[in-house]
Amino acid sequence: MNIAIDGPAGAGKSSIAKLAAKKLNYVYVDTGAMFRTMAYYFLTNGIEPKEESQVNENCDAIHIEIQYEAGEQHIFLNGKDVSKEIRQEEVGKNASVVAKYPKVREKLLELQRNLAATTDVIMDGRDIGTVVLPDAECKIFLTASSHVRAERRYKELVEKGETCDLEQIEKDIIARDEQDMNREIAPLKQAEDAVLVDSSDMTIDEVVNRIIELAERADR
Ligand code: C5P
Repeated sequence: MNIAIDGPAGAGKSSIAKLAAKKLNYVYVDTGAMFRTMAYYFLTNGIEPKEESQVNENCDAIHIEIQYEAGEQHIFLNGKDVSKEIRQEEVGKNASVVAKYPKVREKLLELQRNLAATTDVIMDGRDIGTVVLPDAECKIFLTASSHVRAERRYKELVEKGETCDLEQIEKDIIARDEQDMNREIAPLKQAEDAVLVDSSDMTIDEVVNRIIELAERADR
């Protein structure tokens, strides 16, 4: 059985999916990390993410591998573990830029489907319920107000010791959502058969329990 969780930036998809995966004994697959890894390669190799032709020409030089260590997803770019490096805000912004290109999406689609074919997964992203796993038994669209999402991200960054501006974070989140919702292929969208969960006023435990309840219902 596969569970698809989609939603906008900062909705808490990865924290929730990670916890739910542990409780359900599923493998958690973070597809955003794959787009971030592509962006990270372009940024660190002098390739302009906004130039689609440059990006296309360089896609074949990228080899991405996923491994699990103590249940944690690690992502390898041409053999090097880049799981930490790709979490930077700059990488997230540019991931959204390159995620518009068909060549980038095609490359990652195969990897995503292969992971789901071999085991029970909870996969999170933007197009999992609509494009990657349209037959997933359980689909969730997890969202929260942009203000709540910005506050959560702000807290996360402050805890990491980074200086940041709450207003700017909210602006960036809104801009990223706009870009993800309005692209031509695989836009961020709630699948028709997905259940909407708005976590604005929910605790992490409440959201995890809701996901588990929906997964158990789908399994019956
Ligand atoms: O979820 P995360 O913030 O790590 O994703 C980074 C970017 O990757 C998103 O803003 C989106 O543009 C892209 N993405 C996507 N499809 C997915 C997952 C992520 O287009 N399934």
